Amino acid sequence: MSNRKTREIQIGTLKIGGSQPILLQSMCATKTTEILTTAQTATRLAEAGAGLVRVAVDNKRDAEALREIAQQTAANLSVDLHENYRLAELVATYAKKIRYNPGRLHYVEPQISWKEKVRRIAEIAAEHGCALRVGVNCGSLDPEKLAKEDAFHRDGRGGNVLDSTPLLASALEHSAFLDSIGFVNYCVSLKSSDPATVICVNREFAKRRPETPIHLGLTEAGMPPEAIFKSRAALEPLLAEGIGDTLRVSLTVSNDRKTEEIEAGRRILDNVARGEILTPEQLPQLLKSRLNIISCPSCSRVENGVFVELAERIREAARFAADFPVTIAVMGCRVNGPGETDNADLGIWCGATQANLKRGKTLVGSFDYHEIIPRLTDELRKITEN
Ligand code: SF4
Repeated sequence: MSNRKTREIQIGTLKIGGSQPILLQSMCATKTTEILTTAQTATRLAEAGAGLVRVAVDNKRDAEALREIAQQTAANLSVDLHENYRLAELVATYAKKIRYNPGRLHYVEPQISWKEKVRRIAEIAAEHGCALRVGVNCGSLDPEKLAKEDAFHRDGRGGNVLDSTPLLASALEHSAFLDSIGFVNYCVSLKSSDPATVICVNREFAKRRPETPIHLGLTEAGMPPEAIFKSRAALEPLLAEGIGDTLRVSLTVSNDRKTEEIEAGRRILDNVARGEILTPEQLPQLLKSRLNIISCPSCSRVENGVFVELAERIREAARFAADFPVTIAVMGCRVNGPGETDNADLGIWCGATQANLKRGKTLVGSFDYHEIIPRLTDELRKITEN
């Protein structure tokens, strides 16, 4: 399948890149501090075929829980660090890989440059033999890169529009920086919720950085079966071109169904091996709806346990608008929710006791969970009746 030879990187006893088979990954959606449930989920995912299982670590309590989790599961653990880069030193002993998000490095200790923070993460990773993933995500982009993109479009300058894409610019910048400090045990992901964008930016990144291993994924893919069609359309064309060394299919499903992410990933690899490639152009026929519901797969940060059920109820309640090209984004937490709903027509993100509703970039309000569906359908009706 792959004729593109990237650099091999070492993740514990595993390797990705080069001639290695493509590694399937998943992530725990349990609270990281719920040690037993998280360890059991990680074990179940590993037994289903996940070579790596990611766990979110946002604070010292999560980091302490990780130590226990690592003792209770044989799964290879990868840690997702969002804002607090200093947690890297607390998790590196137990994690085979650390994912950092270039777009979230600016919030904690803003007086320290991102380069200093990445240098520190890389030093810790090197000391512990840990790999890194530079995980760039369309919903949480580097604010400086977003400002440059705006300026680029306002200027109406010509040239390669891809150069102004924050996803690509950020991935290239961080790769170059890691190279410059001599850290090479890393891979990169460039994720968007739009399959065509995933293809375009990953193709360009692979062209410019042929040696760098790539982690593929469609972010906020949503619920199956739609999420599986969209993930296929994003990933199969790339894999057929030999782009991609590891992948995760993100699904909004309850924790006991998380192994479906691995099954979906395996089916994608089988399809590509058979030459059965789904493309973004074929999606409209399969989805049979112009309404697009994107939702996050949830993780330890999810703020209310009803999140998955809420996403399913929204899909049902919005069926009347199936013929309208409207995007509804449903996110699990306030950390990523506000940003990751920005490009949707309607966005909802969970808080502990209330859900927040946005139309475009404007907040409509925060509503109790029993009120949120009627409020959303009101707004959806206004859009479809216009
Ligand atoms: S939006 Fe929040 S809850 Fe959902 S996957 Fe992202 S960090 Fe986790």
